[in-house]
Amino acid sequence: MAELAKLGWYRESRLSSLSGDGRLFLWYQSASISFGWVPMDYERVVYLKSEIQRIGEETLRELKELDRQDALQELKVKVLGKKGSLTALLRQMGGLSPEERPMMGQVVNDMRSCLEKAWEERGVELDILALQKRLTTERIDITLPGTCVSRGHHHPLTQVIEEIEDIFLGMGFQIAEGPEIETDYYNFEALNLPKEHPAREMQDSFYITEEILLRTQTSPVQIRTMERLYPALPVKIIAPGKVYRNDDDATHSPMFHQVEGLVVDRGIRMSDLKGILLNFSRQMFGESREIRLRPSFFPFTEPSAEVDVSCMLCGGAGCRLCKGSGWIEILGSGMVHPRVLEMGGYNPQDVTGFAFGMGVERIAMLKFGIEDMRLLFDNDLRFLQQF
Ligand SMILES: [Zn+2]
Repeated sequence: MAELAKLGWYRESRLSSLSGDGRLFLWYQSASISFGWVPMDYERVVYLKSEIQRIGEETLRELKELDRQDALQELKVKVLGKKGSLTALLRQMGGLSPEERPMMGQVVNDMRSCLEKAWEERGVELDILALQKRLTTERIDITLPGTCVSRGHHHPLTQVIEEIEDIFLGMGFQIAEGPEIETDYYNFEALNLPKEHPAREMQDSFYITEEILLRTQTSPVQIRTMERLYPALPVKIIAPGKVYRNDDDATHSPMFHQVEGLVVDRGIRMSDLKGILLNFSRQMFGESREIRLRPSFFPFTEPSAEVDVSCMLCGGAGCRLCKGSGWIEILGSGMVHPRVLEMGGYNPQDVTGFAFGMGVERIAMLKFGIEDMRLLFDNDLRFLQQF
């Protein structure tokens, strides 16, 4: 009785009823709601019921005031969690009789599902509120000028390498690659440049050990490719890539690019070499170009020839670019030395071949009219954007 009074419940003493089995029922009500007939020994039940109702109403009120999803979760823990207020009330049901327990269970479950529904609804409401808030605070002003991201393009050297590759792919060549850190054997020995050969002087390199160095030329790829393909014919490759030499001035860089070509088959002649290089020069520098071969020396070719192309600026009349000669040297070439064919596994009695090699920087400088090679490596956008 005392517990009910604490909650503001009072008994309407005029209303009472006696049940068939002789139990006295009393009518309880609070200021706002009627509660119903309560058997005199159910006071405990009435107390628990009203507590449940109180907790429920309080929770619903708090829910309405919440404005954040995380606060919603906090409140849920506070009420329905292991140490929540509604859960604590459930523990008190231990003191009830077996008939009373299911009745109370029903009340608690009803309240529980009522609250869970309210939580869900409030959650949806908060989502909508949060979205509306974001829409107003994060509005995008589409009249503002955009941030301009300038579009880049390939480096002139990359452009030239790709153009060279395209031209040779069009003539049935394949592209081969090899390591930039190379052994002395592949870089020199197998290319007919034994130790103490004077031509090694021109290719001072960066040595890692006595036997391992940064390759000074793409030629080792020729040997590696022949070894890989033997005994297949024809061998018809170009090998573009970086090479390294201990040089640094206006026309030399410690790292530069070469493209080397190799063709090995039965009956390959010097005229095949000339035809391929003429075709390349015209595609690269213009349809009206001519080429000429001048005798030269390379350890890995015999005979060897420097190849000149008719000046792309004056057409052969003589100018500053061609130093008045009308011709510009673009690459070195020759028939593959029989010893190099042997090193690659092929029989020089059976097959012949030609090889050529060009510096990509030189081709790019001629094509674009660049006078200082170092400009290509300075990464100055004012320069690079011109190509
Ligand atoms: Zn000229």
